[in-house]
Amino acid sequence: MPKRLDTVTREQLASRINYYREMGIYDFYRRPIEEGSGMSFSEQVQEHPPEPPEIMPSNRKTTLTATALPVIQDRPEALKAIRAEIGECTRCRLHKGRTNLVFGVGKVSADLMFVGEGPGADEDAQGEPFVGRAGQLLNNMISAMGLEREDVYIANVVKCRPPNNRTPEKDECDTCSPFLMRQIEVIKPKVIVALGAVAAKNLLAINDSMSNLRGRWYDFKGAKLAVTYHPAYLLRDPRQKVEAWKDLQMVMKYLGLKPRAKEPTE
Ligand code: URA
Repeated sequence: MPKRLDTVTREQLASRINYYREMGIYDFYRRPIEEGSGMSFSEQVQEHPPEPPEIMPSNRKTTLTATALPVIQDRPEALKAIRAEIGECTRCRLHKGRTNLVFGVGKVSADLMFVGEGPGADEDAQGEPFVGRAGQLLNNMISAMGLEREDVYIANVVKCRPPNNRTPEKDECDTCSPFLMRQIEVIKPKVIVALGAVAAKNLLAINDSMSNLRGRWYDFKGAKLAVTYHPAYLLRDPRQKVEAWKDLQMVMKYLGLKPRAKEPTE
């Protein structure tokens, strides 16, 4: 006969389940409680304080051990849940000029994630980040790192295009960035590259110049974060590409990536 849970345990369990639901996790597995362990769930929670659950792609099976926590089976589903929660967003004024909300694109289990500022005209039209001229340059940067665009995840601080491509304002970033944080929590990249000052300052909550922000690692949500120039800035001042390449090389070294071999020229 299963034991009835005490009130504290029930409340802790409900709060834990809500926490996972908010992260888009709906599937849970029950593990048998060891008979005679004498420990209530609340005592176990205290002994094993809540940690973010491990996220596993659906094609990888895990063996649940006695201490296993619920597992996100499906990153695409978790991202879909975040997208569904954003919905037809009207939380800030940027929605007024929007054609398409630009959620993010790429590999859901990417080791490397790029974060830009906000969609421009092309992105607004197509609903995908970095598809205009700056996007073309970002693709080239990714390719120079020995990767394809499909190998990484790309998102922005704000998901709707600011009018006339102005810099998103603080309240717009503050409203939108919790969704970016949740995308990061689901994707769990090893490295995040902040593209430009807006992304860097919003992610790191530091107000500093690009020259001070670049060239070092930051710890961010279990990932390493590096700052480099925004591709749109590099289009305006191509001399800075050398500097951006140094930033990318730092990332490549950390991830063990080899630069793409140059195509043989005739
Ligand atoms: N600039 C950005 O910051 N993001 C995009 O998606 C496109 C251009």
